[in-house]
Amino acid sequence: MDKNLLITGGSRGIGAATAVLAASQGYRVCINYLSDHASAERICGQIREAGGYAIAVQADVSNEDEIIRLFSRVDSEMGRLTALVNNAGTVGEASRVDAMSEFRMLKIMMSNVVGPMLCSKHALLRMLPRHGGHGGSIVNVSSVAARLGSPGEYVDYAASKGALDTFTIGLAKEVAGEGVRVNAVRPGYIFTEFHALSGDPQRVSKLEPTIPMGRGGLADEVAEAILWLLSDKASYSTGSFIDLGGGR
Ligand code: NAP
Repeated sequence: MDKNLLITGGSRGIGAATAVLAASQGYRVCINYLSDHASAERICGQIREAGGYAIAVQADVSNEDEIIRLFSRVDSEMGRLTALVNNAGTVGEASRVDAMSEFRMLKIMMSNVVGPMLCSKHALLRMLPRHGGHGGSIVNVSSVAARLGSPGEYVDYAASKGALDTFTIGLAKEVAGEGVRVNAVRPGYIFTEFHALSGDPQRVSKLEPTIPMGRGGLADEVAEAILWLLSDKASYSTGSFIDLGGGR
């Protein structure tokens, strides 16, 4: 069976590492991004140089019209989707809840919860046998924040990942008998540009003493777990989570 993978937020960080590893394992990859066209094209170029297939498609996953356009590009340029990684996500500046705006909370929930739910919907329309599909695999990129709550930093973000975990469990059970597996990874502190969004690009290095393993994680280490969950090696796993938090 063809291995056609869509990764949301694949232009950098965990998504980019996942795209490169997936291509090396024979997936044809669609790299979605929000605004960083140059980085998305650079990752595509890296994959093509290694003999793989990749396209980059701009779309905001918090908007269903843009998601529909994104999936249409996958349909026409790659064929039927077999794998989805809901990786795109965002976070606001470190803050207490009593200082958070409605705008910020809605943006976090739209990007981190509604976006993955809508992308899953459009993936299911291609994967489920009732819609002419042949099954598939979805991996959601959650966070250890879903378990820990992130007090004083971004409780809104942690709550969005908690919702994503619940969505993972429910959807996994809903489609378990129809050939689609749904799982999630929960990374801890990973060295990516993500932490600049919360106001401190050096955040992971500074917090290393608080991590049981004593170091931050690498995007490649998260990508390995995502690829395992996507693959047939994880054929009996659905509704499950792999924590990549160095013991947190
Ligand atoms: P990152 O380096 O900031 O990359 C985020 C990616 O998401 C970029 O490709 C960005 O596109 C894209 N993106 C953001 N909002 C989007 C939207 N509305 N529509 C489409 N694409 C969007 O982040 P990362 O560290 O790799 O994080 C990836 C995932 O892991 C996120 O869900 C995050 O919550 C989760 N996570 C990260 C950590 C960590 O420590 N880094 C820990 C736990 C969980 P542009 O480049 O175009 O802006």
